[in-house]
Amino acid sequence: MTYPVTLIPGDGIGPELADATVLVLEATGIGFEWDVQSAGEATIATEGTPLPERVLDSIRRTGVAIKGPITTPVGSGFRSVNVGLRAALDLYANVRPAHSMAGVETRYANVDLIIVRENTEDLYLGIEHRVGPDAAESIKIITRAASQRIARYAFEYAVANGRRKVTAVHKANIMKLSDGLFLESCQQIAAEYEGRVAFEDRIVDNMCMQLVQKPELYDMLVLPNLYGDIVSDLAAGLVGGLGVAPGANIGERAAVFEAVHGSAPKYAGLDKANPTALILSGALMLRHMGETGAATRVETAVRSVIAEGTTVTYDLGGSAGTRAFAAAVASRVREG
Ligand code: NAD
Repeated sequence: MTYPVTLIPGDGIGPELADATVLVLEATGIGFEWDVQSAGEATIATEGTPLPERVLDSIRRTGVAIKGPITTPVGSGFRSVNVGLRAALDLYANVRPAHSMAGVETRYANVDLIIVRENTEDLYLGIEHRVGPDAAESIKIITRAASQRIARYAFEYAVANGRRKVTAVHKANIMKLSDGLFLESCQQIAAEYEGRVAFEDRIVDNMCMQLVQKPELYDMLVLPNLYGDIVSDLAAGLVGGLGVAPGANIGERAAVFEAVHGSAPKYAGLDKANPTALILSGALMLRHMGETGAATRVETAVRSVIAEGTTVTYDLGGSAGTRAFAAAVASRVREG
């Protein structure tokens, strides 16, 4: 059996990481039919947009994509391709696991968190306008439908994966209407899972402090879009940084797998960046396809090469390049 998969190499370090990921995924022996689709900076010049419709058509056809990071201009220019892709395909759940790994030096040894971020609304709708020359407004949209949908996703994930607790994160003490609605929606869904999955809530500032002091108290977090973006980077920092943090954007009809990190332009083309995050995103993709055995082999291979520590990239204290690390993982996958 061959799986058709859309492959978006992306900008900056993206293409090198995509090559590394393809090498490791193909080492599992699973057949992939890669539909390579460029998007981002390169297509602005040639097609006038960083997200051509053909990219979306490809993902609608294959139902699954793996994507390198894409550069987003700060302050002006095109809307983020990442945000545009999630909106166009209604990829409403952004799932970002943060697990400690042996061989990665961090403050904590036993972090095991799943961050579930709402991906379609909140301030990321980009509804902004200037109010005269010296003021600007951003509109935050929170709906019951989207909040209940993400809460249900989190609880269903908890049941399916044997997780014990979901913590809803908000700032409902200040944004009583918008964050209040998010919290109320989570509470409504939590009631349906009472006795099966525990539920609690935390105010986002306190949550950040608690995660830095005692991450082991938490299991799964469900958050609106902006807090989810920030807190998932914080969680990535707890387990070794952006180089090792994978992610998935899940919708009803399509799923896009990508690392938490961005395009790190200063390392582009240097064979330096750590491909672990995208390779582990590939393992999440295999799991999503039902290829659980292959997913476990990839995760185990990554963990064993990192634990050994002789062929790791600069961010993990080594001197290996992107390609050498990927080759070491791929050969471990073949042996496994
Ligand atoms: P970044 O994640 O690219 O870099 C942050 C820091 O982490 C840098 O020091 C970088 O060198 C390091 N880093 C990131 N990935 C690494 C890896 N794989 N291996 C080793 N070190 C790594 O974040 P940024 O600098 O804020 O953003 C750069 C660009 O990426 C921006 O245009 C931003 O909009 C975009 N971005 C895209 C995505 C995405 O495509 N999903 C996500 C975040 C940021």
